Amino acid sequence: MKSSDRDLKKNWKLQQRELARAAFPAANSVLESLFDFVESNVDSHGCNHSLRFTTRWVSEHEQPEKSVLEWLAAHGGNCDCEVVANAANHWEQNR
Ligand SMILES: [Zn+2]
Repeated sequence: MKSSDRDLKKNWKLQQRELARAAFPAANSVLESLFDFVESNVDSHGCNHSLRFTTRWVSEHEQPEKSVLEWLAAHGGNCDCEVVANAANHWEQNR
């Protein structure tokens, strides 16, 4: 790969990361607390293929449910265990 190609690829990756960050529905500290909460509840109670812990946390913390759930779903978080496995991973890689 030529170095100019490598630069282009690097820039593209940075841009993707910026876009990913811009789409975060809440501050990193807020998302961190969401993922911690859901992860510890899935660890102790398991996932029943719903977003019960996610939605509980969202309503208790008065976060905008629609935008948070849409963002999670867009990154593979369609139930609590997927939130931990997929959406949290997406957030970790781009935060
Ligand atoms: Zn699940």
